[in-house]
Amino acid sequence: MTYPTQPKASHFVNGAYLEDADGTAIDVIYAASGERIAQLHAATPKVIEAAITAARAAQPKWAAMTGTERGRILRRAADIMRERNHELSVLETYDTGKPYQETSVVDATSGADALEYFGGMAATLTGEHIPLGEDWVYTRREPLGVCVGIGAWNYPTQIACWKGAPALACGNAMIFKPSETTPLCALKVAEILHEAGLPAGLYNVIQGMGEVGSALVSDPRVDKVSLTGSVATGRKVYAAAADGMKHVTMELGGKSPLIIFDDADIENAVSGAILGNFYSSGQVCSNGTRVFVHKKIKEAFLSRLKERLEGAVIGDPQDPDTSFGPMVSERQMEIVKGYIAKGQAEGARLVCGGAQLPRDGFYLEPTVFADVVDDMTIAREEIFGPVMAVLDFEDETDVLARANDTPFGLAAGVFTRDLARAHRVAAAFEAGTCYINTYNDAPVEAPFGGVKASGVGRENSKAAIEYYSQIKSVYVRMGDLEAPF
Ligand code: NAD
Repeated sequence: MTYPTQPKASHFVNGAYLEDADGTAIDVIYAASGERIAQLHAATPKVIEAAITAARAAQPKWAAMTGTERGRILRRAADIMRERNHELSVLETYDTGKPYQETSVVDATSGADALEYFGGMAATLTGEHIPLGEDWVYTRREPLGVCVGIGAWNYPTQIACWKGAPALACGNAMIFKPSETTPLCALKVAEILHEAGLPAGLYNVIQGMGEVGSALVSDPRVDKVSLTGSVATGRKVYAAAADGMKHVTMELGGKSPLIIFDDADIENAVSGAILGNFYSSGQVCSNGTRVFVHKKIKEAFLSRLKERLEGAVIGDPQDPDTSFGPMVSERQMEIVKGYIAKGQAEGARLVCGGAQLPRDGFYLEPTVFADVVDDMTIAREEIFGPVMAVLDFEDETDVLARANDTPFGLAAGVFTRDLARAHRVAAAFEAGTCYINTYNDAPVEAPFGGVKASGVGRENSKAAIEYYSQIKSVYVRMGDLEAPF
């Protein structure tokens, strides 16, 4: 079978595709079949240099344009993305293995939302006037310069846009390095931005493993780094950025709690738990993978959950009827299988799933463990796969302490009909994003990011602007100056 996935070249630099076959080969494997569907090359030092030079050269002129002009280009790119949604969704499905049923409504759509939202905001990014008697200070909101974006593999189009859109709206240039596992989608984002009229050099995509990311982060001509990835990578990138005193956004991992009280609507709570554990085959950073269910409703919850999971349509992710696809890679599947084995060895009760499916590709069954206790490995470590851990609780204060007893703090959710309790619990959660009677929504209008080891900074919303711009104060004196001598 041939796939429409081989890009014109590995990189997109200075407004055009660029190849350098001297770079280490990167094979793109289709998760649903295990076949190679494209081959690219990691950026060589020559390509890295070309991207940084192009970004630095293009950025000042871009920053000097009006916000209205910059915004118009971003909004035009959003329109093109929406028009080409089908093509982009098919590509995202090949790149990640996620079902078209998901990619066609989430990935390019959420990327386009970011371009539209920050495109609309570009013209509103102003400073303020601070009166000081007859003198005054005014502030200028200025871009940072050259921003580097480094992506994970679970939402390649979305991540490329969530980082690119606010960076460009603020007048920066961007060099984006996608995950080596999913290198295809970001190239399309670059193509579309240029089709929309983005001047050359402002949004570059270069491929590679960690070394390419690391070379970008430590280059003194780079002013800001935004990473989406694991906590382990985050620590390295944050340290390297600190060395150069660079601005950072860190969107890292999680092990988020989802608390279901005994007064919750069980059907909605099961939906929330499914959305927070099995969407994208569980490969979502904010997933609520520690599901605390009140003892009184635990068995009812588990039996309804099992019934609903049996309705998952597992199959070819390009088939619009498929609702559950493969893991992104064989490596990721093996890691998750290791956690399933650990869950069983440590005494958790397997309610359903647990096995690899006997078919090509990297398919694991949706897996639920019950009777999980707090110190089991599957309750402590991020698994990043379709594995839910269900824990019991009886008391609100006790469950909150347990929910917060983790180094992570990306998200948290609560299902209850008691409004006062819902807000009390949300206030007590140590997490960047909390959900009441829902889970995993991430619209561009709302800030997104983590506390504790889950990250630094916020993406989306007005909050993202703070992480892609800086403020300059200008003091203005109207009268004569007095000096001591
Ligand atoms: P990863 O940390 O292995 O890699 C992320 C990116 O960092 C890749 O592009 C990789 O090439 C690059 N990288 C690796 N080492 C580097 C280095 N030393 N310097 C610079 N770049 C380097 O993560 P992954 O396996 O691709 O993604 C899964 C992880 O991402 C999970 O932990 C998940 O929770 C997290 N994630 C977080 C969010 C969020 O918004 N908080 C979203 C998606 C995924």
